[in-house]
This record gives sequence, C-alpha cells and structure tokens, in this order.
Amino acid sequence: MTGDTLFFVGDYLNFGFPNHPLTSERFHRTVRLLQQRRILDRPTVHVVEPEPVDMEVLRLFHTEDHVELVKRKSEEGRGYLDYGDTPAYPEVYEHAMLYVGATVQAVHEVVEGHFDHSLQLVGGLHHASRSSSAGFCVFNDVGVAISYLLERMGIEGVLYFDIDAHHGDGVFYEFYDDPRVRIVDIHQDGRTLYPGRGFDWETGSGKARGTKMNISLPPGSGDRELLRAVQAGIEFGEKAPVEMILVQAGTDGIRGDPITALSYSIEGHLKAVESFHQLSERCCDGKLVVFGGGGYNVENTSQAWANILDLLSA
Ligand SMILES: [Zn+2]
Repeated sequence: MTGDTLFFVGDYLNFGFPNHPLTSERFHRTVRLLQQRRILDRPTVHVVEPEPVDMEVLRLFHTEDHVELVKRKSEEGRGYLDYGDTPAYPEVYEHAMLYVGATVQAVHEVVEGHFDHSLQLVGGLHHASRSSSAGFCVFNDVGVAISYLLERMGIEGVLYFDIDAHHGDGVFYEFYDDPRVRIVDIHQDGRTLYPGRGFDWETGSGKARGTKMNISLPPGSGDRELLRAVQAGIEFGEKAPVEMILVQAGTDGIRGDPITALSYSIEGHLKAVESFHQLSERCCDGKLVVFGGGGYNVENTSQAWANILDLLSA
C-alpha cells in the first residue's frame, strides 16, 4: 500500500532547552539528514507547519492551572516548570502549543483518511500529567491526542505502543481505567531509571483491567529482548478491535544514549517500528501515527528518526 505520510517542520522544531539533554539540534539534524537523503522530496511525504493547539482541545486533557503556570513561567523566561527536570525559557509556551497542535493534527488527518501515517518528531512527551510538567515534557501531547480521539472523533479503540527507554507514566496512568485505550509500554526497568514506575503487574483497573501491559527490561538489554517484547506486545494488542495505532518511538534505548542503559541497535529499533507498521496494515487500514519521543544521542537519534520516515513513506 502507498504510504502517504504527514511530516511537520517550522518554528516548532526549536522546542528544546539550553544546556540540557533535550536540545532542538536533534530535530534540526534529522531534517538536514532527510534533505540529504532526498526523503522529503518524495511525493508520498507531505510537509506542513503546525498550528498551535486549540485551547479547548488542550483542556480535554490538561487542567487550567497547569496551562496558566506554563504560560506565566514562559513569560518570566526562567526557572522550572516542575521540580528541576523541565526548565522554562521564553517561548516555551508557544513551542509547546505548537507541538501539541502538530500531534492533534497528526491523528486527525490520519483518522479522516487524508494520509496513511504521520510522523511527529517533537511529539511523544509522555511524562507530563494532566496537572503538571515532568521529565522534559511541558504538555503531554499524546494524552491530549488520545482524549481528542475519544471525545471528539468517536474513536472507541486506540492502541498505544511506547518503546522509549523511559516508562510513559503520563499516558499509562492517566488512561489506566479507560478500556478504550490499550497500552503496551516497553522500557528500562523502573528500579534503575526515571520515572521509577511502570511495573509488569500493572494491567489496568476496573473495566480496563487487562488492557495495559508493561514490559520492563533490565539494563543492557539489546535487540533480542526488544523484539521479543514487541512480539508479545503485538499479540496482546491484537486481542481487541483497534481503530488506530499510536507509537512513541523514543530512541533513547539505542546503545550510546547518555542518560539510559539499554543497548538496542538502530536497525533493531527500526524493526520494532516496522512491526507496528505491519500490524497497522493488518488491523486498521494502516492508520499509524509515530512520535519522536526521547533520544539524547543526537547522531543516533537523527539517523533512527530519518529511517522511520523512509520506512513509512516507502
Ligand atoms: Zn525517554
């Protein structure tokens, strides 16, 4: 099948913190690589600049107090949005509004069938909760997008895979009791890495019991462990009807990342994304949205992300 893919550029790529692992260079380097490899010239790649998210849509997930705090701290232009991981800088509010806008547009256009897939590099900021920033994540774009799919687009079944080295706590626990959201989160064992959560016995609560799956991997785990976990996650995900697949494809599990201790190869990481891509064709008309997520080795991250757009738009 064709792989018409929506891809975002523009000012929102400047989201990033000074003297911090999450820099905007990881986005800019990826775009340069995509230009060099002529992937952005493909007729299947549709490049757009995102609009800021609608306040009403942002508030489907986030509290008013949290939105106001980010706005005020952004105007002050210094200090932190949380307890010391996520700095404020001038324009952080505007950039965050843009990356959430991109994510909402990414899922909207795919559900509407305008494109098969979207790749949103600045998306997948999975640690922010409804009421607070956390772990480099100002707003939780995935949380907003899932709320938008359920509440505004009439979607009844979302399947979310998260292969970032860190557990996606801000998505996992905020939809813990919602049976419409199936989640498979594969990450470095929470006893050895931020956010210190995401244990294998957590499977959802109430009506959602059995709709969530955590697979924690010990430090040092490589492609074999990753791909075995992906296989188990796909078997689990396939058990229920799904209308679309979201993937947080953080690259911080690739060997050489400065802040984690996993050991995937760039090729192994791509194979995982390819498996989700194939699943989307089997289960839901190819409806697949991929988010960049974490990844703090700029060289590896830009290569891995460029490979993903290459795959989706082939
Ligand atoms: Zn991460």
